[in-house]
Amino acid sequence: MPEPVLDAVVVGAGPAGAAAALALARAGRSVVMVERGPFPGSKNVYGGVIYARILDEVVPSWWEEVPAERWVVRRSTMVVDGDRSLAIDYRTPTWGEAPYNGMTAIRAEFDRWLASKATDAGARLVTSTVATGLLRDERGAICGVRTDRPDGDLRARVVVACDGVNSFLAKEAGIHPKADAAHHTLGVKEVRSLDPDRIDERFGVPRDHGVDIEILGCTRGIPGGGFLYTNRDTVSIGVVVSLTGLAAAGVRPEELVADVREHPSVAPLLAGSELVEYAAHLIPEGGYDTMPELVTDGMVVAGDAAAMTLAAGIWLEGVNFAIGSGLAAGRAVDAALRADDTSAAGLARYRRELESSFVLADHKRFRKAPSLVLSDRVQQRYPGLVCDLVEGLFTVNNPEPKPGGASFALSVARRNGVRLRELAADAWRAARIFG
Ligand SMILES: Cc1cc2nc3c(=O)[nH]c(=O)nc-3n(C[C@H](O)[C@H](O)[C@H](O)COP(=O)(O)OP(=O)(O)OC[C@H]3O[C@@H](n4cnc5c(N)ncnc54)[C@H](O)[C@@H]3O)c2cc1C
Repeated sequence: MPEPVLDAVVVGAGPAGAAAALALARAGRSVVMVERGPFPGSKNVYGGVIYARILDEVVPSWWEEVPAERWVVRRSTMVVDGDRSLAIDYRTPTWGEAPYNGMTAIRAEFDRWLASKATDAGARLVTSTVATGLLRDERGAICGVRTDRPDGDLRARVVVACDGVNSFLAKEAGIHPKADAAHHTLGVKEVRSLDPDRIDERFGVPRDHGVDIEILGCTRGIPGGGFLYTNRDTVSIGVVVSLTGLAAAGVRPEELVADVREHPSVAPLLAGSELVEYAAHLIPEGGYDTMPELVTDGMVVAGDAAAMTLAAGIWLEGVNFAIGSGLAAGRAVDAALRADDTSAAGLARYRRELESSFVLADHKRFRKAPSLVLSDRVQQRYPGLVCDLVEGLFTVNNPEPKPGGASFALSVARRNGVRLRELAADAWRAARIFG
């Protein structure tokens, strides 16, 4: 008897895969999610904040059931130079009320919850199973995956590759160029236990509310940055750094995390905390210009497998982009199945939908952001410059009058090796990218 052919097989039950399977199952399609971990999210590493507005489309009042740790009501951007720091700290009660803005969440819980929405809708989840390769029909079109199970072939009219950064399925399909270290960063983080009362007190938030701190200038000049997020009774602290920069500097990533943890502006927040988990993972930060082809005959690629993490300096968002692209992939596959055309042309609606949504619109708009934010001046010279400016303005040196004016700003810029021309050029670039 011939094997039954599924409408779709989704590889990976992270946010992209769960969203794709959810959209397909809700459209009445037969769909199987293949996940190598023992449960969705069991192997997944990220910093810690999810901006889940995109879930409004799929789970009404999702905030009433999502496994959130804390709702982010404070977002702080800190620039450090040696022992000094300057922070812009924004807080609003609005983000602490439904429908909320961002939340800290544990991926093992969040991914499991999102995947359960797909299985509730009728998708099948097969865990502890690795997709090991692609199946092709006589025309060369993709028609399923091999797995590491003895009876492991899964035939399907379309494969949705949501297998994360460095997607080997996209590579095997010939639509992902060879991995380039320059387009990836390494994220390294510690999760540290801390009494919830201490978290509330030290970060100045009531229970259920939390803080997102992004840190620039803390990576010994290696392009990247640091972060600190509050969970219910743990704190996530880490760095995201250029892979090539890290290799060239010969520094161990855990030393960089220790630098952030021991910084005088951070250490008191973490006093008494204990390490409970250490994790590292690659991030596809190359952005729009490094994305693969998104479709080929019989296959679409979504989430990190398609390099969709937005890492544009002040933003590091991947989960919402994975969900947005997964949903669009599911809808496009359903439309292609309806039209009985699962060729690349039949699946082309996927890119069109992404182009008109935040997923590719934001990526396109901020495609030049990484080169500015990770530039030597922003990483190595501006932290010192802004700290010197602020220190000069607020150090009272009577009987000297207060410093000020162009000559003061110029002398600070010179001291930090920045020419006025460069400052103006960077300000202009920043205005064009972020304005
Ligand atoms: C250190 C770090 C910090 C980050 N911080 C944030 C943040 O704060 N906020 C944010 O929104 N994003 C953040 N991101 C990005 C975010 O984690 C990713 O964008 C997001 O996880 C992408 O989702 P995905 O479903 O595409 O891929 P993944 O979450 O990587 O899921 C891929 C899934 O596929 C499975 N899989 C892989 N290969 C196979 C196979 N062959 N067979 C079967 N299963 C397979 C994996 O087990 C996994 O479950 C961060 C990333 C890192 C590394």
